[in-house]
Amino acid sequence: MPDNETQTSLRETLAQLKTPVEGAHGVESMTETEAGNYFVANYPPFSFWTKEAVPEVHRLLETEAPKDLPLGLYFHIPFCRKRCHFCYFRVYTDKNAGEIKAYLDAAIKEFEIYAAKPYLAGRKPKFVYFGGGTPSYLSVDQLNDLTGRMKDLMPWDETEEVAFECEPGTLTEKKLENIRKIGVTRLSLGVENFDDRILELNGRAHRSKEIERAYRFAKSLDFPQLNIDLIAGMIDETEDNWKRCVDKAISLDPECVTIYQMEVPYNTTIYKEMQASGKLTAPVANWPTKRRWVDYAFGEFEKAGYTVTSAYTVVKNPEKVKFVYRDYLWEGADLLPLGVASFGALGGIHLQNQADVGPYMMAIDKGESAIFRAYVTNEDERLIREFILQLKLGRTNAGYYRQKFGVDPLVRFAQPLAYLKDEGFISVEGDEIILSRDGLLQVDRLLHEFFLSHHRHARYT
Ligand code: SF4
Repeated sequence: MPDNETQTSLRETLAQLKTPVEGAHGVESMTETEAGNYFVANYPPFSFWTKEAVPEVHRLLETEAPKDLPLGLYFHIPFCRKRCHFCYFRVYTDKNAGEIKAYLDAAIKEFEIYAAKPYLAGRKPKFVYFGGGTPSYLSVDQLNDLTGRMKDLMPWDETEEVAFECEPGTLTEKKLENIRKIGVTRLSLGVENFDDRILELNGRAHRSKEIERAYRFAKSLDFPQLNIDLIAGMIDETEDNWKRCVDKAISLDPECVTIYQMEVPYNTTIYKEMQASGKLTAPVANWPTKRRWVDYAFGEFEKAGYTVTSAYTVVKNPEKVKFVYRDYLWEGADLLPLGVASFGALGGIHLQNQADVGPYMMAIDKGESAIFRAYVTNEDERLIREFILQLKLGRTNAGYYRQKFGVDPLVRFAQPLAYLKDEGFISVEGDEIILSRDGLLQVDRLLHEFFLSHHRHARYT
């Protein structure tokens, strides 16, 4: 949680801020950035996952997994130097080395229990993802110890990608060399913005100098993939600032850039301040402005030789740069969630761990399950899930779903497809379902058209 001083300075900042972009607010209220989640990360929505479904995961773990079903590992590191004002994750900024060690020990114990289950025994991960929080917050020794123990339980010799999220200010040359040495193939730098004032206003811990230094080190180590994350529409961002960010990102020449549009979920500091001051609209650019900025970025990256490969990514060489974690996950792979609040999926069952570190560690300590909620999908929900997630790539092929599910999506989704076609967001050429650029820029909003009716308008938390 932010301290009182941070809270007060954010309050003052929000009170002083003018509309970030002239004319961008006060148009139609539905275009404003109001509180809530925009990004569709999974289907069915999390609010439908329940405690009652958890025993189904335990039943599944006593059975054997289908042969050739790919497996991935997600390991959650919930520590950060500072809590960003827009952050909606459960993160801890006050844990000492002993507490971090105890957490890592607990997550490894969780992994040991899973690795012995018939559903997982003998399987090897095709992909590993370290997310957070800030995985790069860990020290070199902690990282070596953690990854060594993980590999003892499930070797990484068949692993196609090891992805690792970093906060630039936590990286030293020595730590980066070590991250490369333990087998990380995709290093993702949470840059978000290059302007120190914007970084500070939004509560980020790092500054532009740290970005420069971390990026230069990382580049010299020749990671197979170096990604930088940007956010369009942070607090007080202007058109000029965004354009400078895009220029700067292009000049760094990364293999991959991920661009998010700023959203303000309910459990953020920004939302709490909105509540305290009785405001419904977040102090960030409205949705049309953010879409325009991402459109501008896509255009500039294309001019620089990049290809738009999803609603959020541009890559320099799409033949070489694949995002294995995303692609396996969106095609229904198993993902074993390790650590507090982690999300995963096993055999078509979605699951999430306890969201607070206290109950999480207590459960593991007692040798009990740390799973807090789950959802058993049916065949139709799995089809919808894969279809909407793959639409985020900008195009998907009906033949894939006919072969995998025995269902023609052109028939199953005839109604929403016709509607989105009429609106100019989608076109269908033979089996190819293609989003227009305008559709791609607001894909998360459009995906609700494919939801089962009782899943629409769900709170996405
Ligand atoms: S670095 Fe990421 S996880 Fe940590 S507080 Fe900021 S947004 Fe949240």
